[in-house]
Amino acid sequence: MDKIRNIGFIAHIDAGKTTVTERVLYFSGRTHKIGNIDEGTTVMDWMSQEKERGITITSAATTCEWNGYDINIIDTPGHVDFTAEVERSLRVLDGAVVVFESVAGVQPQSETVWRQANKYRVPRMCFINKMDRLGANFKRAVDMITTRLKANPVPIQLPIGAESSFSGIIDLVEEKAFVFPEDDDKDSNYTPTEIDIPSDMVEEVKTYRENLIEKVAETDDSLMNKYLEEEPISLEELKVALRKATINNTIVPVLCGTALKTKGVQAMLDAVCDYLPSPLDVPAMTGLDPKSGGEIDVPANNDSPFSALAFKVMTDPHVGRLVYLRVYSGNIKAGSPVYNSTKGIKERLGRVLTMHANHREETAEVSAGSIAAAIGLKNTFTGDTICVEGSAVVLESISFPEPVVSVAIEPKTRIDQEKLIDSLIKLAEEDPTFQIKVDDETGQTIMSGMGELHLEVLVERLRREFQVDANIGKPRVSFRETITSSSTAEGRFVRQTGGHGQYGHVELEIEPLERNAGFQFQNKIMGGAIPREFINPVQAGIKEALETGVTFGYPVIDVKVSLVDGSHHPVDSSEMAFKMAGSIGVKEAIRKAKPVLLEPIMAIEVVTPGEYLGEVLGDLGGRRSRVEGMEGTDEMQTIKAFVPLAETFGYTTALRSLTQGRASQSMEFHHYEEVPQGIAGELVNA
Ligand code: GDP
Repeated sequence: MDKIRNIGFIAHIDAGKTTVTERVLYFSGRTHKIGNIDEGTTVMDWMSQEKERGITITSAATTCEWNGYDINIIDTPGHVDFTAEVERSLRVLDGAVVVFESVAGVQPQSETVWRQANKYRVPRMCFINKMDRLGANFKRAVDMITTRLKANPVPIQLPIGAESSFSGIIDLVEEKAFVFPEDDDKDSNYTPTEIDIPSDMVEEVKTYRENLIEKVAETDDSLMNKYLEEEPISLEELKVALRKATINNTIVPVLCGTALKTKGVQAMLDAVCDYLPSPLDVPAMTGLDPKSGGEIDVPANNDSPFSALAFKVMTDPHVGRLVYLRVYSGNIKAGSPVYNSTKGIKERLGRVLTMHANHREETAEVSAGSIAAAIGLKNTFTGDTICVEGSAVVLESISFPEPVVSVAIEPKTRIDQEKLIDSLIKLAEEDPTFQIKVDDETGQTIMSGMGELHLEVLVERLRREFQVDANIGKPRVSFRETITSSSTAEGRFVRQTGGHGQYGHVELEIEPLERNAGFQFQNKIMGGAIPREFINPVQAGIKEALETGVTFGYPVIDVKVSLVDGSHHPVDSSEMAFKMAGSIGVKEAIRKAKPVLLEPIMAIEVVTPGEYLGEVLGDLGGRRSRVEGMEGTDEMQTIKAFVPLAETFGYTTALRSLTQGRASQSMEFHHYEEVPQGIAGELVNA
């Protein structure tokens, strides 16, 4: 297991993640032709639509070999609309290589993915790509990692030259210099040649190596003593300490190269093996005993019972439903019965595959630390735990944000209606941030997701993969309701019409909670004013009412409801009557508690040439936005702002025409905020 690396390449879109992955696959001997993203031949981007858009949307897990190591690459998408995909992959990674652009350095989404990696404490190293580009600047990129990401980057390489004269790298750990073969040298297999450290770089190398040793020594007491005593530190000691510091997240080693020209990729792979963690190096997983609720350790070894987390479900046109698993403990043979402890159901593991993007290999067994795709798990979804029934454990699931935008969708031809629904269900299975439902009132099919682009991509996939052409309506905001004060109310459901009547009566208190707190229910009844069997129905009635909304018809969130009193009738009381009473009571309580409408607020970053700054800010101002900060030079400015989702529809097009296509933007859902007084009705109607 110490020779397994589960890693991902994470980056801002266009930094070169796909190209890097391509080259890695080439060197690991699994692809025989180097793909080129611009020609649309990459192996990882096998979905045809991704090829056209040039962005990787869905993660695929790919296994490759390097110097006796098994490197499992979890492909992560770069666009923030697909941030759920990034989160889900980070959850199962042991380490990551963050790819940066040598010219732009830290870009808006680099910050987003960095933050996400921090959240899951993923050890990482940085690869400064595109060293061949005009304006490439290794040191500036490293500085930006310090200032913008507040990280502790430590170069373990220096580039020899830059831009068109980028010709080699210096390995600061080993103190060796290498030059790359010429671009047209077809027989070289891109293998670099060792040379003496160029004389004009000797001083610089000394300074940077000193910096490396000092930074590493700071993380290791015995090394620090040696360093202070000026005793020699061996290469082995340095590497061990650097590895430890990287795994502890105290140091981020920085490397460089150009993936497009296939320079620096092999050294990067070496560093992945040398410094990124194996499954044994990361803190052991813990899970819960589904029966007792107690915590269980899940040690990463093959002697403990089998457990795995499903992190991705895909429908493959050839083999059907594929469930990607990260195995945390134990091993299991293909064909074995397994247990889905999240759902409490028995399943059977059919065939087990290791994936090489669109080419697959069958394996007889999967073991701890590995990643594989299983066929035959029918009712297992993203976030579920698969284990053995006798030693069941539930691993921490993956949390996804609720969708914030929705559109109505209908097939272009009526006969496709059924096919449309089937296909949407399949897509929703794969993507937990995509939901579909039928509007009770209008009968329309509504699909919801994390942004306009997210939904557009799904409609495209419908057309290409499922041959369903569909029309979509205007995007609509998923608003929420909440309350701003406390109140109390009664709910009575009493019917006395001849024979058997209905009797339910509750007294409720409601109070606002902080954002993201969700719904809380407390039963404060003492002394049996309401018999115990009717408490759950009351709660169910309250929940139902909250879900359908009270004032504007959107779900009510972040409230606490307490059941404080009530009464019952020995004959006429029923579950149904108390459910109704709960629902009536909570609606009344909400109406009295100063209800407000909440809207999703997006965090947006716009990068624009300085000359358009005025126009861009003016336009943002008209969109009820709040500018949080600006930085950059006269040439390029980065604006960070919060803008209500309702004001962002069509923003990509607007920005393009404002800046002649020279600005770029990215946004993601950030939080819910109260809609300003006076416009709630107008917004909801729109
Ligand atoms: P991703 O969006 O992060 O997956 O980035 P891609 O791998 O798709 O690369 C984006 C663009 O940058 C493509 O046009 C690549 O050909 C180009 N590119 C990638 N690596 C390099 C590089 O090292 N040098 C140069 N000059 N271009 C590169």
